[in-house]
Amino acid sequence: MNVLVIGGAGYIGSHCVRQLQAAGHKPVVLDNLVKGHRASVPEDVTFHEVDLGDAATVSKILKKENIDIVMHFAAFIEVGESMQDPLKHYENNVAKTVSLLKAMREAGVNKFVFSSSCTVLGEEAKPPFTENMPLRPISAYGQTKADVEVILHYCTKAYGMSAAIFRYFNASGAAEGGMIGEDHSPESHLIPIAIQVALGQREKMMVFGNDYPTPDGTCLRDYVHVDDLSRAHIAAFPLLEEEGKLLTYNLGTGTPASVLEIIKTVEDVSGHPVPYDLAPKRAGDVPAAYADSAKAKSELDWTPKYGTIRSIIETAWAWHQSHPKGYEDA
Ligand code: UDP
Repeated sequence: MNVLVIGGAGYIGSHCVRQLQAAGHKPVVLDNLVKGHRASVPEDVTFHEVDLGDAATVSKILKKENIDIVMHFAAFIEVGESMQDPLKHYENNVAKTVSLLKAMREAGVNKFVFSSSCTVLGEEAKPPFTENMPLRPISAYGQTKADVEVILHYCTKAYGMSAAIFRYFNASGAAEGGMIGEDHSPESHLIPIAIQVALGQREKMMVFGNDYPTPDGTCLRDYVHVDDLSRAHIAAFPLLEEEGKLLTYNLGTGTPASVLEIIKTVEDVSGHPVPYDLAPKRAGDVPAAYADSAKAKSELDWTPKYGTIRSIIETAWAWHQSHPKGYEDA
């Protein structure tokens, strides 16, 4: 398949590009490089530095590259920013996705893969999260993902388009070999921050809340390897052959880890201490979020290869250790 990977220079997109190549598909990357890194895209992959909201150029690329499937990873993901500047998130995550879908219609491309998030389910949902829970996001970011999910519901009904929606839990880890990995600016995610402390780039870190109703009082999350996420996306391709199909999958390992367990594992894997201070709870954090991925297992025959938090952190450590400044070192 010829696959246009929008946001293919980002964290999850760049891993997906390599998985697509390994599975015998032909990825083409479109990225505006606002958040993405050119160095994360392999030399032998066609790269278009274009904004996904530029419908005329996107449509031309879809035709010229003979694209069969569009995978869309390009989103602003910072929850705090989405609350301070919701229109920025709505414009990028919703308005530009509508523009992209229109460009696809214009070019006659009708298969779509969308990266959503478990945040669409909100704080009332009780884990493990299944796909049929109601959409109740509590942030503007989560709402933008929920909005696109609803838009896809109507588009698949109206236009015969087929779409697969993947709701990620905590995407983490890096490709084997340490050549590509996570490089966000600013970094807000737990594993890379703990690793930056282990590397001595930060003196210490903060643990946001230790009186949650969980075994050690810190939040439980479902950390799932980025290559496992990518493999699930590709496994859905055959199901998109049927017109008008809308598929939704929650992707996680189903085994949660606490913040303190993550810090301890980073210490074990790196061999360095990770000092921390206790800090107040972070607004919007739910005590526990983990996936019921039974649907992905049965319909896509998907099982995460990285089943333990240690195996995930080992890959993240290999990337950060060899690229302490991220893609600046690439
Ligand atoms: N967290 C923390 N200190 C940090 C960053 C994150 O204690 O410096 C906690 C956060 O409160 C949450 C968990 O780690 O309970 C995972 O946070 P992250 O931002 O990585 O992902 P999220 O679950 O918010 O998508």
